[in-house]
Amino acid sequence: MTVCTRCIMDTTDPDISFDAAGVCNHCHRYEEVARQRIIPAGQRQERLAQLVAEVKRAGEGKPYDCVIGVSGGVDSTYVAWVVKDLGLRPLAVHLDNGWNSELAVANIEKTLNKLGIDLYTHVIDWEEFQNLQISFLKASTPDGEVPTDHAIFALLYKIAAKQGLKHVITGTNVISEAILPEKWGYGYFDWSYVKDVHRRFGSARLSTYPHFSLLHLFYYVFLRRIRMVSVLNFIDYNKNQAMDILKNELGWVYYGGKHYESIYTRFYQAYLLPRKFDIDKRKAHYSNLVLSGQMTRPDALDAMKAPVYPANLLEEDRQYVIKKLNLDGQQFEEIMSLPRKTFLDYKNNRNVFAFAKRLVNSSRRLIG
Ligand SMILES: [Zn+2]
Repeated sequence: MTVCTRCIMDTTDPDISFDAAGVCNHCHRYEEVARQRIIPAGQRQERLAQLVAEVKRAGEGKPYDCVIGVSGGVDSTYVAWVVKDLGLRPLAVHLDNGWNSELAVANIEKTLNKLGIDLYTHVIDWEEFQNLQISFLKASTPDGEVPTDHAIFALLYKIAAKQGLKHVITGTNVISEAILPEKWGYGYFDWSYVKDVHRRFGSARLSTYPHFSLLHLFYYVFLRRIRMVSVLNFIDYNKNQAMDILKNELGWVYYGGKHYESIYTRFYQAYLLPRKFDIDKRKAHYSNLVLSGQMTRPDALDAMKAPVYPANLLEEDRQYVIKKLNLDGQQFEEIMSLPRKTFLDYKNNRNVFAFAKRLVNSSRRLIG
């Protein structure tokens, strides 16, 4: 196994490549994304003030001026704190997909109450969603969180449109999540991929599942002009400092691991991905922190020596997940031993998205 000399990504990513100095493609990509997306320190105040003025203007006379998504995790809770601090009037949206840990629910209620933010919770139709999750398990791709992530974005767009708002403020950020191999996490924007997986493996009709096709996306982005704003790229986002603020000022409680606020995510990242796909997402997460200067490379390598999650709790989660998905032990073992696939084995719109991205990036360069 070859490990990058700058971050800690390695050849468990099948598409990784290294330059002559042993620095990987993710490191180079990080530099490029950081240059494009992180607002330079000297311009932050002005750009942030512009953004706030724009959001306020677009929301004038309406009960809210922006939509935020909340999961109970660090990034999204911190976004709630930041937008409130900026004097905005957000409506918080939460997707209840049936897998929230009690801690996540308590975190959401407590922090939004303290901040005085209204919450809209969408409870997903469990039978449909369970069936879709099983479809993704049977599809045998490493991106099993696509059903959740797709529904969240669908919901954010839908509610922004319904409320007549132009801004969805998200917690996606360059500092902690710019690095992710495509095959580990493609697809949450791609309804044709979700649909094809479910057509092949599903049995229940997805009649209420929140989703958006390319046409919907076009409608939201170009006709309704709804913008996704990564506000954390506008500020000096330091994860540890953010957690301290949330703990001290909002009574928020840490749940131990990126995205472990959901039991399924925790199980997926700590059990299924390492065992079935030889993927440990901590590598991408820590690498990101190394590149953004919030963790040293030796500390990251050291942190990787700890188990992903305590073995006894992992077994508890495994039994819980099997039971909740209405599978039996043997069916689950069959899923675990299916040959590995990726999104490329299914219908998808990757070329369209890649083209759109190039278009956006080149227009960004043209505008400045
Ligand atoms: Zn690297």
